[in-house]
Amino acid sequence: MASLGEKCGVFGVYSKGLDAARLVYFGLWALQHRGQETSGIAASDGKVIRVHKGGGLVSQVYNEKDVKALLGSLAIGHNRYGTSGSRGPFHAQPVFEKADFLALAHNGNLPSTKKLEKFLKLKDTSTKECNDSELMQKALNYFMSEGLSIEEAVKRAWPLFTGVFCLLLLTRDKMVALRDAYGVRPLSVGQLNGGYVFSSETCAFDTIGAAFLRDVAPGEMLVVDRKGLTSYGLEESRQKLDIFEFIYFARPDSLLLGKRVSEVRRRLGINLAKEHPISADIVVPVPDSGIPAALGYSQELGIPFDQGLIKNRYIHRTFISPGQRLRSLDVQLKLNPIPEAFQGKRVVVVDDSIIRGTTSKRLIEIVRRAGAREVHLAISSPPARFPDFYGIDTPRQKALIAARMSVPQIKKHIGADSLSYLSYKGMISATGLPEELFCTSQFTGDYPVDIAERSLEISRKVPDARLLTV
Ligand code: AMP
Repeated sequence: MASLGEKCGVFGVYSKGLDAARLVYFGLWALQHRGQETSGIAASDGKVIRVHKGGGLVSQVYNEKDVKALLGSLAIGHNRYGTSGSRGPFHAQPVFEKADFLALAHNGNLPSTKKLEKFLKLKDTSTKECNDSELMQKALNYFMSEGLSIEEAVKRAWPLFTGVFCLLLLTRDKMVALRDAYGVRPLSVGQLNGGYVFSSETCAFDTIGAAFLRDVAPGEMLVVDRKGLTSYGLEESRQKLDIFEFIYFARPDSLLLGKRVSEVRRRLGINLAKEHPISADIVVPVPDSGIPAALGYSQELGIPFDQGLIKNRYIHRTFISPGQRLRSLDVQLKLNPIPEAFQGKRVVVVDDSIIRGTTSKRLIEIVRRAGAREVHLAISSPPARFPDFYGIDTPRQKALIAARMSVPQIKKHIGADSLSYLSYKGMISATGLPEELFCTSQFTGDYPVDIAERSLEISRKVPDARLLTV
């Protein structure tokens, strides 16, 4: 079957003398933004691997008894956010079946799993109902069942892993961290109590008092066992971090490629202000993701910043079915305006991106109803015209509003007085890093990691995106 797109968070701890599962549990709290559909932890006490996983938020999946039962000083965890086809606890990770040699947690996506499926069929291993992560685990498990060490199993299975992956693997006595050669999704290693910690984002290190050491290099395998940490270069690095991590996905307090995400977002806002200065009375962010960019925009133009829109932190998409009608209501459930902030004002609303356009359309209505005289929407990234195949839950191309409509058409559709997008150049320069380090596929349609048969899902006939402000 086709692989499932997932945006996820992974976290692992190997530290002698520490209750690893409890630390992983706190790590998963810090990575909740990367996935809210399922959560799971696998722990080993050196003899037995135990797993607890289920549907929902970290706060819903575990109670004290569950965490306590996950004995041992090695543990990996996973938060998952699957697309509509894969909802529910069925595909919760870490992937592990009783008697397996290893548990696996995956962030990323294999656009094509043909090679893996062919291999497993040849080995008489059932692939029915398996997603990409489950297929990878099965391949590794097969090699280990043949008597290979986890290191050797990874080396043998590596050519079958055709796509984007940050993996944490747990055997009874080892932990392995792997990142594909393009490093599209982030993965870092830290130190704690003489042991090692792995996380999708560095913000989770701070939570448990671990020290950030470095990023796991693209194409690198790190193995932790009783002897310590060993690095293996499996493939030469061709670093292409997904720039959308900087724009929307990662937490602002994380470091990506050595840069603080909040600072890059502030610079995205500064560049947006330089490119599209608007005369207005207040700048209001769409919380939370639009806050740093709105600050940058406000600082650059000297327009007062006002929070204006209040987000309910406790309502998650988990509780709302994915249909379009409910999605519109979603915005109202999440955001409420402070009318006094808006009455009679010319407002610039800053958001990080427009995907389907549902949020923006509803937002403009909400702000107008709250009494704004003019509503200008400024977006701190370019038009998103191409779908993602590397592990972010973006919809199919036809659902992307900028893949169907030009900027003037979008402006009309959402009902804003003006609409401005940041340019591609402005986006890259805000990172302070060279363009070559990034995967920018959602904006350019350039997919650095082969998307194989999935390329048939893309249309190159998209509206021109040179006119960025109307
Ligand atoms: P919409 O245009 O209604 O699809 O939603 C755009 C909003 O969703 C923006 O405010 C973004 O902050 C947020 N967003 C961007 N990418 C994603 C994603 N992959 N999953 C969930 N929300 C996202």
